[in-house]
Amino acid sequence: MPDLDVAVVGAGLAGLATAYRLAAEGRRVEVFESEDVAGGRMVSARVGGYTIDRGAETLAPLGYPATWKLIKELDIGREVHRIRYPVALWRDGRAYPWLGHPLSALTGAGMPFAVRNRMVKMMLPGLRHGMDPMNPADTPYGASTLTELGETYGPEMVRDMLDPISASAFGWVPERSAAAPLLSIVVRTRGVVRWRTYRHGQDTMVTELARRVGVAKSTAHRTCSVLVGRGLLDRTPAGGYRLGLRFVEYGHLATIRSAVRDRGLSLLVELRNTLGETVQIGVPAGIDVVYVERVEGMRALRYATENSRRSPLHRSSAGKVLAAYDRELLEARLRAGLPASTGYTIVVPELFVAELDRVRHRGYARSVDETELGMSSLAVPVWSRPGGAVVAAISMVGPTSRVVAEHEVGHVSVLVAGARRLTDALARGEYALGPRRR
Ligand SMILES: Cc1cc2nc3c(=O)[nH]c(=O)nc-3n(C[C@H](O)[C@H](O)[C@H](O)COP(=O)(O)OP(=O)(O)OC[C@H]3O[C@@H](n4cnc5c(N)ncnc54)[C@H](O)[C@@H]3O)c2cc1C
Repeated sequence: MPDLDVAVVGAGLAGLATAYRLAAEGRRVEVFESEDVAGGRMVSARVGGYTIDRGAETLAPLGYPATWKLIKELDIGREVHRIRYPVALWRDGRAYPWLGHPLSALTGAGMPFAVRNRMVKMMLPGLRHGMDPMNPADTPYGASTLTELGETYGPEMVRDMLDPISASAFGWVPERSAAAPLLSIVVRTRGVVRWRTYRHGQDTMVTELARRVGVAKSTAHRTCSVLVGRGLLDRTPAGGYRLGLRFVEYGHLATIRSAVRDRGLSLLVELRNTLGETVQIGVPAGIDVVYVERVEGMRALRYATENSRRSPLHRSSAGKVLAAYDRELLEARLRAGLPASTGYTIVVPELFVAELDRVRHRGYARSVDETELGMSSLAVPVWSRPGGAVVAAISMVGPTSRVVAEHEVGHVSVLVAGARRLTDALARGEYALGPRRR
């Protein structure tokens, strides 16, 4: 007879709530989680006496009946409190609170009057309609993306308000994400001003569920034990885990299969050793650049591998190089819009086109604080063969003070030499970057 009725994979809120309900019905449930801690995206960090919510951070009082039912059942209602300034907008070096509060009609929460006016015009159809969250496409905003909404109501609205809110609350990307779900949440929860949070961290509910379901670190260890048995993990003397020998075999197989990519990587390692900063190879993918290889810099403060593998063409130097030599890519990017990620991102089409003229004239591209404040990059083109088409870009990225200004010319000459070697190798068929357009 099996010792288990249901195996739940993942100790996030969904897995734990499912396990809790099934256990309440008398089923024998085990939750398998790959991380050491239960909670998934609801995990909070505790640092120096502060609680930091890293994914989810708010609770809406209206529109989430199952969540509130569970809060009542778990008896954690007293942990929930109202956030005084649920959303503040960061503008010109300071935070403007009260966005969504009736007072913001007066203060504008940092938004200029013209933008406030357009914000009201944008929200009115949704308020009149009521915005059924189950059918967001069947609302006045249809299937428009946030960027497309900006074309009607002004790009500043997207750049300064909708993009920051949707990015921080849901991790959405304006040019790909529909506006209706966000606006329906705002309308149906009767405005962000009512949002609440847990007093001691957003992981309050998952911690309580995990306690009741009996999920402990041992659950994770149970998963690990299976992997140890299969040679995929090894125990370390300190009691932790490291990749097992079987992975070395798999790695070797992968190396043989992708010898060409490996040689691309060894060139990057050389470049990284010379430049000291993170270097990467980017290829076009629709309206973005995707980094197919990346070797991290050696300094403590550096651009790290967890950073995104994909970036819109207009923000990064590699993207600018690719757009500078491919009219189709440029036009597709312009059609999709130029959303900002910092105050230095080029968001005006005419300025972006002029910037690409400069890239072709200079032979390399720069992105100074345009993707992330304090970080800059330089990129040069890689050709399919000498005199052929630009198929990729090699870029270096690091703290602004170490990348541009007096360092720039030296860095560019190293990158150009590297790009020339990659171009020659591509022409000889030794590298296979492969265009990754989608
Ligand atoms: C940026 C951001 C902000 C958000 N803000 C809010 C907010 O303010 N309020 C709110 O209510 N919600 C918010 N959300 C949504 C909320 O975080 C999610 O709805 C919720 O965490 C989803 O829970 P889940 O269990 O489905 O997934 P997750 O929380 O992702 O949990 C999945 C779990 O499964 C584990 N797992 C995955 N694969 C395996 C495997 N093969 N074996 C074992 N374990 C595995 C993972 O390690 C993880 O622990 C936000 C989400 C994001 C991304």
